[in-house]
Amino acid sequence: MKAIRVHEFGEPEVMGLEEVAPLTPGPAEVVVRVHAVGVNPVDTYIRSGQYRPDLNLPYTPGFDGAGVISAVGSEVRHRHVGERVYVAWSLSGTYAEEVLCKEFQTHPLPEGISFGQGAAIGVPYGAAFRALFQRAHGVAGESVLVHGASGGVGIAAVQLARGAGLRVIGTAGTEKGEALVLAQGAHHVLNHRTEGYLGRVQELTCGKGVDVILEMLANVNLDRDLEVLAKGGRVVVIGSRGRVEIDPRTAMGKEAAILGMILFNASDRELASMHAAFGEGLANGTLRPVVGRELPLADAAEAHHAVVESSTFGKIVLIP
Ligand code: NAP
Repeated sequence: MKAIRVHEFGEPEVMGLEEVAPLTPGPAEVVVRVHAVGVNPVDTYIRSGQYRPDLNLPYTPGFDGAGVISAVGSEVRHRHVGERVYVAWSLSGTYAEEVLCKEFQTHPLPEGISFGQGAAIGVPYGAAFRALFQRAHGVAGESVLVHGASGGVGIAAVQLARGAGLRVIGTAGTEKGEALVLAQGAHHVLNHRTEGYLGRVQELTCGKGVDVILEMLANVNLDRDLEVLAKGGRVVVIGSRGRVEIDPRTAMGKEAAILGMILFNASDRELASMHAAFGEGLANGTLRPVVGRELPLADAAEAHHAVVESSTFGKIVLIP
């Protein structure tokens, strides 16, 4: 079978498609024939060497994917050969024709959800769910500002928040992105490339400010976020690409909280909880992953350029 391999950290072009040995499952493991691979920004950080410099080389990138189970180990109880699944994390990396997973790293893909959509679930919906519910403890009746609502995590956050009864304000940087955010269920959309756009948050929340902010680019927005928070508000830092200066006094008066979030810290119990919610949301139609672009697996380098250099309007997916 073929897989993308990284022999040295560096630019996207260090990724090459190679022939590798076929996979055999251990007792509690399954092999999935991959039909679609989700490309996440974190894949690019790892490939460049800045995020996991301790990683053993060579390796196959990728956390997310979807496909059909092709082999199961002797102790596997809840999966069967031929079952459509999405993969959220794996033992061997998803940028490949086959992926080896622990049984619990695969989840049923409901009818009507394509493999491309299945590849758009793991990291984006996981990050959005953990930020909104496990870190900020957002509840129905509260308001949430989703920065970067036009991206993979943002789209998931808008759908999850709307489905849970929060009032949703999303941001995007283009007209196309604004339309996408509204189509996902946001009540209002703001353009983060417009000067002073956060000024509208007070008016949209009847002067109260927002209860929760999901922040995709904290180094740019965090200081101003604190100004538009409601009393007792929470900002969850999901993404940041540099340092930022804030005025802590703004947080004091509002008794606001700035919460960090890394999906990889989620416990097994928290992961089980989020995937139960995703299964139900995919089945009842409240969660609808959006695929922005599909590329052949061999074009992984182009996908890595695209995911950090341009607006994606949904998930970039690789097709083996
Ligand atoms: P993505 O699909 O590339 O989306 C990036 C988003 O950021 C787009 O919606 C983009 O909007 C928006 N953006 C650009 N400039 C912005 C600004 N000045 N203010 C607010 N938003 C802005 O990426 P993603 O997969 O959604 O990931 C988003 C971030 O979260 C990345 O930094 C990623 O590394 C991080 N992340 C963290 C975790 C974690 O565990 N902590 C997990 C997943 C992702 P336009 O294109 O419309 O301008």
